[in-house]
Amino acid sequence: MSQDEEPPAPALLERLAEGELRLHELEEVVDADRAAEVRRRFIEEETGAELSSVANFGFEAGAATSNIENMIGATQVPLGVVGPIRLAGGASDGRCWLPLATTEGALIASVNRGLSAIRRAGGATGRVLANSMTRGPVFRVPDVGIAAEVVTWVQAHEDQLRQAAEATTSHGELEQITPYVVGNNVFLRFGYDTKDAMGMNMATIATQAACELVEAETDAELVALSGNLCTDKKPAAINAVEGRGRTVCADIVIPREIVEETFDTTPEAMVEVNTRKNLIGSAKAGALGFNAQAANIVAAAFLALGQDIAQVVEGSNAITTMEIQDGALYASLTFSSLELGTVGGGTNLPSQAEALGVVGVKGGGDPGGSNADALAEIVAGAALGGELSLVGALSASHLASAHEQLGR
Ligand code: NAP
Repeated sequence: MSQDEEPPAPALLERLAEGELRLHELEEVVDADRAAEVRRRFIEEETGAELSSVANFGFEAGAATSNIENMIGATQVPLGVVGPIRLAGGASDGRCWLPLATTEGALIASVNRGLSAIRRAGGATGRVLANSMTRGPVFRVPDVGIAAEVVTWVQAHEDQLRQAAEATTSHGELEQITPYVVGNNVFLRFGYDTKDAMGMNMATIATQAACELVEAETDAELVALSGNLCTDKKPAAINAVEGRGRTVCADIVIPREIVEETFDTTPEAMVEVNTRKNLIGSAKAGALGFNAQAANIVAAAFLALGQDIAQVVEGSNAITTMEIQDGALYASLTFSSLELGTVGGGTNLPSQAEALGVVGVKGGGDPGGSNADALAEIVAGAALGGELSLVGALSASHLASAHEQLGR
């Protein structure tokens, strides 16, 4: 888009100022690019801020209409790349690059240092261990006796509920319904295989259909389609224990000499930092994430690849382990709830689609779900690199000097 845009029609600005036309109604009278421009000018006039940089973006505003309302432009975040990531996965196999969008200096350098140790050690192993996107509606019942009857009915009619849910989607599969009762509240945690979609919209629509059947056949009344037992975008132990989205692990054995040369420390020192910091410190803090910086890599990858950024909350539920194996360093990183997809959401936006193309996982996989599985393994592999690098830096006391050189 050009920065030398025609001035917006004064009539539109006047109608906005007088409240005759609302900001979100602009697309009803002009096209999406023009609507964004008029809105931007309106906000400039209202606030006195200059929005010339926000105006300078490289895609049609119309391409984002299902991603945003009241669009005024785009925020640009620097995009870098880490790799090559050498990883033998269940769905990904070989060598790839991962784009990361961040404003944190030293992050990419840190991940790359870990990845170089992983490459020299022959590559990490990655596996998706479970895959289930959840929606947990809450129903009101008269008392706990009826609650128990509702649960019994649900358990006896799982096939019917599956049919109702799956009638709404050509890709999703309902895998389990886990009931929870609290007094006169019944929660049903529906878990779906959403294939290559992160699946939150898909799971919500499918669960709505199943809930209608529960309401028609029992004394339960739906209060909210999300009863927070899902749990979406809030820190919650249920996701750390039961998983949500992809549960995925990457691990590696790094020979002692590679640890010493890459991190300027010993396997024993790294194991001690990991135990005292990531395990004991996190336990004492009551944390759900027992890791050093997994959310850094998840956030930067989610931003680059069109994922739902708020789900970094669940993406921080990860445990890093380190131990000595025959004098070498064994390290693993297991995400319990990494929620991502290669179709839907923001994955079709041009920059994000290009970034997915760099990883080689754009669109639906064959078999279904294999692209999202591969992406989960690759993010886990990169994040393992980040864990190795930060734990290595802490044990070598290099952290402060690295930030001084790269971050300032
Ligand atoms: P979506 O944008 O709704 O797209 C998913 C749809 O893509 C699927 O339902 C499926 O259609 C279709 N599809 C095509 N090829 C597919 C393949 N290979 N694998 C799986 N599906 C395929 O995305 P979503 O992942 O369900 O939801 C992500 C969006 O939800 C994000 O924008 C996020 O911000 C938003 N979100 C929603 C909620 C909520 O409560 N609704 C909460 C958090 C986030 P069929 O189902 O017809 O097969």
